[in-house]
Amino acid sequence: MNIVWFKRDLRIVDQPALAMAINHGPIIPLVIIEPELWEQPDLSYRHFKFYRDCLKSLQTQLADHGYDLHIEIGDARSVLSNYHEKLRFTQLFSTQETWNGWTYERDKTIHDFCKANRITWHEPTQNGVIRRLKNRDGWAKHWQDFMNQPYPNIKNKSPIPPSGIIPNAKDIGHPIDDNLDIQEGGTQQANNLLHSFLFTRGKPYTKAMSSPVSAFDACSRLSAHIAFGSISIREVTQKTHQRYDELKALPKTPDVKLWKSAMRSFLGRLHWHCHFIQKLEDDPSMEFQSLHSMYRPLDDAPLEPSLYEHWKNGSTGFPLVDACMRALHQTGWLNFRMRAMVMSIATHHLGLPWRPCALYLATQFTDYEPGIHYSQCQMQAGRTGINTIRIYNPIKQSMDQDPDGIFIRRWVPELRNVPSSGVHQPWHYGHKQPIVDEKLAREQASKRLYSVRKQPYFRDEASNIVKKHGSRRRIKKAPNQLKLNLE
Ligand SMILES: Cc1cc2nc3c(=O)[nH]c(=O)nc-3n(C[C@H](O)[C@H](O)[C@H](O)COP(=O)(O)OP(=O)(O)OC[C@H]3O[C@@H](n4cnc5c(N)ncnc54)[C@H](O)[C@@H]3O)c2cc1C
Repeated sequence: MNIVWFKRDLRIVDQPALAMAINHGPIIPLVIIEPELWEQPDLSYRHFKFYRDCLKSLQTQLADHGYDLHIEIGDARSVLSNYHEKLRFTQLFSTQETWNGWTYERDKTIHDFCKANRITWHEPTQNGVIRRLKNRDGWAKHWQDFMNQPYPNIKNKSPIPPSGIIPNAKDIGHPIDDNLDIQEGGTQQANNLLHSFLFTRGKPYTKAMSSPVSAFDACSRLSAHIAFGSISIREVTQKTHQRYDELKALPKTPDVKLWKSAMRSFLGRLHWHCHFIQKLEDDPSMEFQSLHSMYRPLDDAPLEPSLYEHWKNGSTGFPLVDACMRALHQTGWLNFRMRAMVMSIATHHLGLPWRPCALYLATQFTDYEPGIHYSQCQMQAGRTGINTIRIYNPIKQSMDQDPDGIFIRRWVPELRNVPSSGVHQPWHYGHKQPIVDEKLAREQASKRLYSVRKQPYFRDEASNIVKKHGSRRRIKKAPNQLKLNLE
């Protein structure tokens, strides 16, 4: 018997660890629910809820194929050690994971355990991230080659009834929040979303992704599924390529053009997914400190509690920011531009250190993916040293992205009766002033950042960061001739 340890790859289609293990002989599929992991400050009930949905789905998929999912609660080393005592297994299979600092340390102890017990630990990859990467040259091609490979599936055996009981949040001591309206996890949900995005919802994607009024529908909404692995990014990529090829064969009507543009933008983002996770894989410290060392003194700036609470609770007085924070709290999702804006306001206008803000957002995004999350939070906070510093103006964003105040009125009911012309600056209609002066706060933030940028040797370190983490921009030729327009 060999063990297949499911982590964030909760599916059976294109599950490389499962497929590899089956080729080596009989298997025990195992999931380990680690209470200490779920106590980490970046995780919350919503993640567990989604994860649990995915486990239920995985259990059914495995049972339909004749495998019984073993479900254990405990620390991974003790659980594996107990299995080893009973079964003396010699091979462990799990997909390579680039996740938070806690799982990184945990995996080191598992490596030691495997070494001490002469167990071979196989860790095939499920995405374009390369472990122990020496150089970013050629990375984009590697990504494309990986995405283009046929993916493994497993053969049917006679179905069996599933036997394990999946614990709920209470069983691992997690407080339950009944007021959530987050997405449901599981492979069926992921497949439905992918299909509806590719064939029904996705047409306006390129333009509609920026506004919170349209993005909830027009974006794929696959992020949490990709993060927990209820669908593989390779399956998503291949199905999108197929759809693009079908569109190419159609007459070039305005509709077909929109669809093609949507598919190209979407493929670009699937590439970014791995591009960002690669950064954390190469430098796990970016979860904890600014990428550019000259910004690190700002990491220790005091966290002004009142500003932090106003930001978290959606009571800054900037209508779009408040609507976003409240929507996020209930739905667990925001579109890219609104995520960027709320992070920008927190760290620039309110002058809060980036790390506690990133941690709070991590607990709120159902799709929390450390590699993307910390890279993006640092980018928006202007801490990477290599990206253009962008300080969003929350009033301008409000006028641009929600001109009629539809999203704002939905989430900030106290503004329901303010006319559209005033919804972006309701303080002109007797509502409270924002907690900071927008223009003044923006100028101060800009000075703070540029005073660091002006220091000697800033650029030297920045060019080393580009060398290590920078994308090499353009994928020359995708396998099916698709040109991806990357940032
Ligand atoms: C401050 C901040 C924090 C973020 N944290 C996360 C996070 O924890 N987890 C996460 O998945 N995304 C994160 N993003 C990126 C992006 O906002 C989300 O991936 C996207 O909104 C998810 O919705 P979707 O699946 O409908 O995206 P779609 O637009 O349909 O994109 C498809 C997929 O591409 C990937 N993707 C999309 N945009 C990006 C991007 N900018 N960078 C990297 N990959 C991308 C995701 O896997 C996504 O599911 C963050 C962005 C910002 C600005």
